[in-house]
Amino acid sequence: MQFKAAVLDRVGAPLVVRAVTAAPLGPFDVGVRIRASGLCHTDLEAIQGSVAARLPVVLGHEGAGVVEVVGTAVTAVKPGDHVVCSWNPHCGHCFYCEQDLPILCDRHIGAHRDGTIGDGPPRLSLENKPLHHFMALSTHAEYAVVTEASAIAVPKDIPFDRACLIGCGVMTGVGGAVRMARVTPGASALVVGVGAVGLNAVQGAAIARAEPIIAVDLSDHRLGLARQLGATETLNPARDDVLARVKALTHGRGADFAFEAGGGEKTLQLTIEAARPGATVIILGKTDPNQHVSLRFGSLMGEKRIIRSSYGNARPQRDFPWLARLYLEGKLKLDELIDRRLTLEEINDGFAGVKQGSLVRAVIQFS
Ligand SMILES: [Zn+2]
Ligand SMILES: [Zn+2]
Repeated sequence: MQFKAAVLDRVGAPLVVRAVTAAPLGPFDVGVRIRASGLCHTDLEAIQGSVAARLPVVLGHEGAGVVEVVGTAVTAVKPGDHVVCSWNPHCGHCFYCEQDLPILCDRHIGAHRDGTIGDGPPRLSLENKPLHHFMALSTHAEYAVVTEASAIAVPKDIPFDRACLIGCGVMTGVGGAVRMARVTPGASALVVGVGAVGLNAVQGAAIARAEPIIAVDLSDHRLGLARQLGATETLNPARDDVLARVKALTHGRGADFAFEAGGGEKTLQLTIEAARPGATVIILGKTDPNQHVSLRFGSLMGEKRIIRSSYGNARPQRDFPWLARLYLEGKLKLDELIDRRLTLEEINDGFAGVKQGSLVRAVIQFS
Protein backbone atom coordinates (compact mmCIF):
# COMPACT_ATOMS: atom_id res chain seq x y z
CA MET A 1 0.00 0.00 0.00
CA GLN A 2 1.01 3.60 -0.55
CA PHE A 3 0.82 6.50 1.88
CA LYS A 4 2.45 9.85 2.65
CA ALA A 5 5.55 10.02 4.85
CA ALA A 6 8.19 12.66 5.65
CA VAL A 7 11.48 11.32 4.28
CA LEU A 8 15.01 12.31 5.37
CA ASP A 9 17.42 11.62 2.50
CA ARG A 10 20.63 12.94 4.03
CA VAL A 11 21.84 14.60 7.23
CA GLY A 12 20.94 18.27 7.35
CA ALA A 13 18.49 18.13 4.44
CA PRO A 14 14.89 19.28 4.82
CA LEU A 15 12.32 16.50 5.16
CA VAL A 16 10.33 15.83 2.00
CA VAL A 17 6.77 14.48 2.10
CA ARG A 18 6.62 11.66 -0.41
CA ALA A 19 4.42 8.72 -1.37
CA VAL A 20 6.07 5.63 0.10
CA THR A 21 5.17 1.95 0.01
CA ALA A 22 4.67 -0.62 2.79
CA ALA A 23 5.34 -4.30 2.15
CA PRO A 24 2.70 -6.93 2.95
CA LEU A 25 2.66 -7.67 6.70
CA GLY A 26 4.89 -10.33 8.24
CA PRO A 27 3.29 -12.66 10.80
CA PHE A 28 4.12 -10.44 13.82
CA ASP A 29 3.57 -7.09 12.07
CA VAL A 30 0.86 -4.57 12.90
CA GLY A 31 -0.32 -1.93 10.45
CA VAL A 32 -1.28 1.28 12.25
CA ARG A 33 -3.17 4.22 10.74
CA ILE A 34 -1.25 7.04 12.47
CA ARG A 35 -3.50 9.80 13.82
CA ALA A 36 -0.95 11.91 15.72
CA SER A 37 2.82 12.03 16.06
CA GLY A 38 5.02 14.27 18.19
CA LEU A 39 8.25 15.97 17.11
CA CYS A 40 10.80 14.81 19.67
CA HIS A 41 14.27 16.28 20.10
CA THR A 42 15.76 12.90 19.19
CA ASP A 43 14.20 13.17 15.70
CA LEU A 44 15.95 16.54 15.34
CA GLU A 45 19.23 14.96 16.44
CA ALA A 46 18.83 12.42 13.62
CA ILE A 47 18.28 15.26 11.13
CA GLN A 48 21.40 16.98 12.47
CA GLY A 49 23.42 13.76 12.49
CA SER A 50 24.30 13.48 16.21
CA VAL A 51 21.99 10.45 16.46
CA ALA A 52 22.87 7.88 13.82
CA ALA A 53 20.07 6.76 11.52
CA ARG A 54 20.21 4.58 8.42
CA LEU A 55 19.26 6.73 5.45
CA PRO A 56 16.94 7.32 3.76
CA VAL A 57 14.63 7.17 6.76
CA VAL A 58 11.17 8.13 7.96
CA LEU A 59 11.56 9.70 11.40
CA GLY A 60 9.03 9.81 14.23
CA HIS A 61 8.94 7.63 17.34
CA GLU A 62 6.10 9.18 19.33
CA GLY A 63 2.93 8.07 17.56
CA ALA A 64 -0.65 7.00 18.23
CA GLY A 65 -3.30 5.65 15.92
CA VAL A 66 -5.73 2.88 15.05
CA VAL A 67 -4.77 -0.69 14.22
CA GLU A 68 -5.85 -1.28 10.63
CA VAL A 69 -4.55 -4.77 9.96
CA VAL A 70 -2.52 -7.41 11.83
CA GLY A 71 -0.20 -10.26 10.82
CA THR A 72 -1.33 -13.86 11.14
CA ALA A 73 0.50 -14.50 14.45
CA VAL A 74 -0.47 -11.27 16.24
CA THR A 75 -2.50 -11.75 19.42
CA ALA A 76 -1.90 -8.58 21.48
CA VAL A 77 -4.02 -6.21 19.37
CA LYS A 78 -6.77 -6.38 16.76
CA PRO A 79 -8.08 -4.08 14.03
CA GLY A 80 -9.87 -1.09 15.52
CA ASP A 81 -7.77 -0.98 18.69
CA HIS A 82 -6.31 2.40 19.59
CA VAL A 83 -2.58 2.11 20.17
CA VAL A 84 0.40 4.13 21.33
CA CYS A 85 3.64 3.05 19.68
CA SER A 86 6.63 1.96 21.79
CA TRP A 87 10.12 2.53 20.40
CA ASN A 88 11.47 -0.22 22.65
CA PRO A 89 9.98 -3.51 21.54
CA HIS A 90 11.36 -6.26 23.75
CA CYS A 91 11.02 -10.03 23.74
CA GLY A 92 10.70 -10.66 27.47
CA HIS A 93 13.02 -13.66 27.69
CA CYS A 94 16.52 -12.84 26.37
CA PHE A 95 19.57 -12.18 28.60
CA TYR A 96 18.77 -8.50 29.18
CA CYS A 97 15.01 -8.90 29.42
CA GLU A 98 15.67 -11.49 32.14
CA GLN A 99 17.96 -8.93 33.86
CA ASP A 100 14.95 -6.58 33.98
CA LEU A 101 16.59 -4.36 31.35
CA PRO A 102 14.22 -4.58 28.36
CA ILE A 103 15.74 -1.39 26.93
CA LEU A 104 18.75 -3.59 26.04
CA CYS A 105 16.72 -6.50 24.63
CA ASP A 106 19.10 -8.68 22.61
CA ARG A 107 16.47 -9.51 20.06
CA HIS A 108 15.46 -5.95 19.23
CA ILE A 109 18.47 -3.77 20.05
CA GLY A 110 19.74 -4.04 16.47
CA ALA A 111 16.52 -2.52 15.13
CA HIS A 112 17.56 1.07 15.91
CA ARG A 113 21.01 0.56 14.40
CA ASP A 114 19.76 -1.25 11.30
CA GLY A 115 16.70 0.89 10.63
CA THR A 116 14.31 -2.04 10.89
CA ILE A 117 11.39 -2.87 13.17
CA GLY A 118 13.21 -5.74 14.88
CA ASP A 119 13.25 -8.60 12.42
CA GLY A 120 13.88 -8.84 8.71
CA PRO A 121 14.35 -5.95 6.29
CA PRO A 122 12.64 -2.55 6.50
CA ARG A 123 8.94 -2.79 5.67
CA LEU A 124 9.05 0.56 3.87
CA SER A 125 10.31 1.35 0.39
CA LEU A 126 10.59 4.35 -1.87
CA GLU A 127 10.82 3.87 -5.63
CA ASN A 128 11.64 0.18 -5.03
CA LYS A 129 14.58 0.98 -2.76
CA PRO A 130 14.59 0.23 1.01
CA LEU A 131 13.44 3.07 3.23
CA HIS A 132 14.52 2.72 6.84
CA HIS A 133 12.57 2.88 10.06
CA PHE A 134 13.60 5.18 12.89
CA MET A 135 13.73 3.73 16.41
CA ALA A 136 11.81 0.67 15.20
CA LEU A 137 8.82 2.86 14.27
CA SER A 138 8.63 5.78 11.74
CA THR A 139 5.48 7.60 12.78
CA HIS A 140 5.89 10.84 10.80
CA ALA A 141 3.67 9.19 8.24
CA GLU A 142 0.02 8.43 7.61
CA TYR A 143 0.64 4.76 8.28
CA ALA A 144 3.25 2.67 10.10
CA VAL A 145 4.19 -0.98 10.13
CA VAL A 146 5.45 -1.92 13.60
CA THR A 147 6.19 -5.17 15.35
CA GLU A 148 3.56 -6.50 17.73
CA ALA A 149 5.60 -5.57 20.84
CA SER A 150 5.54 -1.92 19.70
CA ALA A 151 1.75 -1.62 19.39
CA ILE A 152 0.31 -0.97 22.83
CA ALA A 153 -3.46 -0.77 23.21
CA VAL A 154 -4.78 2.13 25.27
CA PRO A 155 -8.32 3.24 26.25
CA LYS A 156 -10.24 4.65 23.28
CA ASP A 157 -11.33 7.85 25.02
CA ILE A 158 -7.89 9.48 25.19
CA PRO A 159 -7.46 11.81 22.18
CA PHE A 160 -4.69 10.76 19.78
CA ASP A 161 -2.71 14.02 19.97
CA ARG A 162 -2.32 13.58 23.71
CA ALA A 163 -1.96 9.79 23.63
CA CYS A 164 1.05 9.95 21.31
CA LEU A 165 3.06 11.89 23.91
CA ILE A 166 2.95 8.84 26.19
CA GLY A 167 5.13 6.98 23.69
CA CYS A 168 8.31 8.95 24.40
CA GLY A 169 8.48 12.18 26.43
CA VAL A 170 5.87 11.29 29.05
CA MET A 171 7.08 7.72 29.57
CA THR A 172 10.69 8.85 29.83
CA GLY A 173 10.03 11.61 32.36
CA VAL A 174 7.27 10.10 34.49
CA GLY A 175 8.92 6.68 34.30
CA GLY A 176 12.26 8.23 35.25
CA ALA A 177 10.72 9.48 38.49
CA VAL A 178 8.27 6.70 39.30
CA ARG A 179 9.77 3.55 37.79
CA MET A 180 13.52 4.25 37.72
CA ALA A 181 14.21 6.57 40.67
CA ARG A 182 11.22 5.31 42.71
CA VAL A 183 10.73 8.72 44.28
CA THR A 184 9.20 8.39 47.74
CA PRO A 185 6.49 10.58 49.34
CA GLY A 186 7.92 13.61 51.10
CA ALA A 187 11.33 13.33 49.43
CA SER A 188 12.80 16.36 47.70
CA ALA A 189 13.10 16.23 43.92
CA LEU A 190 15.19 18.47 41.68
CA VAL A 191 14.69 18.59 37.91
CA VAL A 192 17.32 20.48 35.91
CA GLY A 193 15.97 21.36 32.46
CA VAL A 194 12.21 21.32 31.94
CA GLY A 195 11.62 20.57 28.28
CA ALA A 196 9.22 17.75 27.48
CA VAL A 197 11.11 15.08 29.44
CA GLY A 198 11.95 17.33 32.41
CA LEU A 199 8.35 18.55 32.71
CA ASN A 200 7.27 14.94 32.86
CA ALA A 201 9.89 14.16 35.49
CA VAL A 202 8.29 17.02 37.47
CA GLN A 203 4.85 15.48 37.14
CA GLY A 204 6.24 12.02 37.88
CA ALA A 205 7.69 13.42 41.11
CA ALA A 206 4.30 15.02 41.84
CA ILE A 207 2.51 11.70 41.22
CA ALA A 208 4.96 10.13 43.69
CA ARG A 209 4.12 12.98 46.14
CA ALA A 210 7.62 14.43 46.42
CA GLU A 211 7.96 17.72 48.33
CA PRO A 212 9.49 20.11 47.50
CA ILE A 213 9.76 19.69 43.72
CA ILE A 214 12.33 22.16 42.40
CA ALA A 215 12.42 22.92 38.67
CA VAL A 216 15.41 24.68 37.06
CA ASP A 217 15.43 26.20 33.58
CA LEU A 218 16.56 29.30 31.70
CA SER A 219 13.06 29.80 30.26
CA ASP A 220 10.48 31.46 32.50
CA HIS A 221 7.78 30.16 30.17
CA ARG A 222 8.83 26.57 30.79
CA LEU A 223 9.18 27.24 34.52
CA GLY A 224 5.55 28.44 34.47
CA LEU A 225 4.55 25.14 32.86
CA ALA A 226 6.56 23.27 35.49
CA ARG A 227 4.47 24.99 38.18
CA GLN A 228 1.28 23.84 36.44
CA LEU A 229 2.63 20.29 36.40
CA GLY A 230 3.53 20.19 40.07
CA ALA A 231 6.77 22.09 40.73
CA THR A 232 6.64 23.83 44.11
CA GLU A 233 9.76 25.94 43.50
CA THR A 234 11.21 27.29 40.27
CA LEU A 235 14.73 28.60 39.78
CA ASN A 236 16.25 30.38 36.80
CA PRO A 237 20.08 30.25 36.69
CA ALA A 238 20.02 33.65 34.97
CA ARG A 239 18.78 35.12 38.27
CA ASP A 240 19.21 32.55 41.01
CA ASP A 241 22.20 30.92 42.68
CA VAL A 242 20.71 27.49 42.03
CA LEU A 243 23.06 25.46 44.20
CA ALA A 244 22.58 27.72 47.19
CA ARG A 245 18.80 27.82 46.73
CA VAL A 246 18.51 24.04 46.41
CA LYS A 247 20.52 23.61 49.61
CA ALA A 248 18.37 26.17 51.39
CA LEU A 249 15.21 24.31 50.31
CA THR A 250 16.55 20.93 51.45
CA HIS A 251 17.79 21.55 55.01
CA GLY A 252 21.28 22.30 53.71
CA ARG A 253 21.74 18.79 52.33
CA GLY A 254 20.85 18.88 48.63
CA ALA A 255 18.12 17.03 46.76
CA ASP A 256 17.11 13.45 47.63
CA PHE A 257 16.34 12.75 43.96
CA ALA A 258 18.03 14.77 41.22
CA PHE A 259 17.08 14.55 37.56
CA GLU A 260 19.19 15.85 34.69
CA ALA A 261 16.91 16.59 31.75
CA GLY A 262 18.75 19.41 29.99
CA GLY A 263 21.11 17.34 27.89
CA GLY A 264 24.32 19.29 28.43
CA GLU A 265 27.54 19.39 30.41
CA LYS A 266 26.49 22.31 32.62
CA THR A 267 23.14 20.78 33.53
CA LEU A 268 24.84 17.46 34.34
CA GLN A 269 27.40 19.16 36.55
CA LEU A 270 24.73 21.17 38.36
CA THR A 271 22.46 18.16 38.90
CA ILE A 272 25.22 16.06 40.45
CA GLU A 273 26.50 18.95 42.59
CA ALA A 274 23.00 19.66 43.91
CA ALA A 275 22.28 16.04 44.86
CA ARG A 276 22.78 15.28 48.55
CA PRO A 277 25.13 12.52 49.77
CA GLY A 278 23.36 9.20 49.22
CA ALA A 279 21.00 10.74 46.65
CA THR A 280 19.74 9.06 43.53
CA VAL A 281 20.76 10.95 40.37
CA ILE A 282 18.93 10.06 37.17
CA ILE A 283 20.35 11.26 33.86
CA LEU A 284 17.49 11.62 31.37
CA GLY A 285 18.88 14.20 28.96
CA LYS A 286 21.42 13.50 26.28
CA THR A 287 23.78 15.26 23.99
CA ASP A 288 26.14 14.21 21.22
CA PRO A 289 27.41 10.79 22.37
CA ASN A 290 30.96 11.74 21.37
CA GLN A 291 31.02 14.83 23.57
CA HIS A 292 33.21 14.58 26.68
CA VAL A 293 32.02 16.10 29.94
CA SER A 294 34.07 17.06 32.96
CA LEU A 295 32.87 16.51 36.50
CA ARG A 296 34.38 17.60 39.81
CA PHE A 297 35.34 14.30 41.37
CA GLY A 298 34.14 15.43 44.78
CA SER A 299 30.63 15.91 43.38
CA LEU A 300 30.49 12.16 42.73
CA MET A 301 31.40 11.24 46.30
CA GLY A 302 29.10 10.50 49.20
CA GLU A 303 27.54 7.23 48.06
CA LYS A 304 25.54 8.90 45.28
CA ARG A 305 23.82 6.50 42.94
CA ILE A 306 24.06 7.82 39.39
CA ILE A 307 21.84 6.13 36.83
CA ARG A 308 21.28 6.75 33.15
CA SER A 309 17.76 6.11 31.89
CA SER A 310 16.66 6.34 28.25
CA TYR A 311 13.01 5.33 28.58
CA GLY A 312 12.10 5.58 32.26
CA ASN A 313 12.41 1.82 32.77
CA ALA A 314 9.37 1.49 30.57
CA ARG A 315 7.26 -1.63 30.44
CA PRO A 316 4.97 -0.30 27.73
CA GLN A 317 2.31 -3.00 28.14
CA ARG A 318 2.06 -2.09 31.83
CA ASP A 319 2.81 1.62 31.68
CA PHE A 320 1.08 3.07 28.59
CA PRO A 321 -2.46 2.05 29.64
CA TRP A 322 -1.65 3.24 33.18
CA LEU A 323 -0.50 6.65 31.94
CA ALA A 324 -3.57 6.95 29.69
CA ARG A 325 -5.84 6.18 32.65
CA LEU A 326 -4.04 8.77 34.80
CA TYR A 327 -4.75 11.36 32.08
CA LEU A 328 -8.42 10.37 31.87
CA GLU A 329 -8.69 10.65 35.67
CA GLY A 330 -7.16 14.15 35.59
CA LYS A 331 -4.00 13.04 37.40
CA LEU A 332 -1.59 13.39 34.46
CA LYS A 333 -1.41 16.60 32.47
CA LEU A 334 -0.91 16.30 28.74
CA ASP A 335 -2.89 19.20 27.23
CA GLU A 336 -0.39 21.68 28.71
CA LEU A 337 2.54 20.02 26.92
CA ILE A 338 1.30 20.71 23.39
CA ASP A 339 2.11 24.17 22.12
CA ARG A 340 1.62 23.57 18.43
CA ARG A 341 -0.46 21.30 16.19
CA LEU A 342 0.56 20.98 12.55
CA THR A 343 0.07 19.03 9.35
CA LEU A 344 2.62 16.63 7.92
CA GLU A 345 3.43 19.23 5.23
CA GLU A 346 4.41 21.72 7.97
CA ILE A 347 6.94 19.35 9.55
CA ASN A 348 10.09 21.34 8.65
CA ASP A 349 8.62 24.46 10.20
CA GLY A 350 7.81 22.41 13.30
CA PHE A 351 11.41 21.21 13.58
CA ALA A 352 12.63 24.79 13.21
CA GLY A 353 10.68 25.52 16.41
CA VAL A 354 12.13 22.45 18.15
CA LYS A 355 15.63 23.62 17.17
CA GLN A 356 15.03 27.11 18.56
CA GLY A 357 13.83 25.57 21.80
CA SER A 358 10.62 27.56 21.56
CA LEU A 359 8.34 24.50 21.59
CA VAL A 360 7.75 21.91 24.29
CA ARG A 361 5.84 19.65 21.93
CA ALA A 362 4.63 20.12 18.40
CA VAL A 363 2.27 17.36 17.29
CA ILE A 364 1.41 16.38 13.73
CA GLN A 365 -2.27 15.56 13.38
CA PHE A 366 -3.60 13.35 10.60
CA SER A 367 -7.26 13.39 9.66
ZN1 LIG B 1 11.72 10.85 21.88
ZN1 LIG C 1 14.61 -9.46 25.05
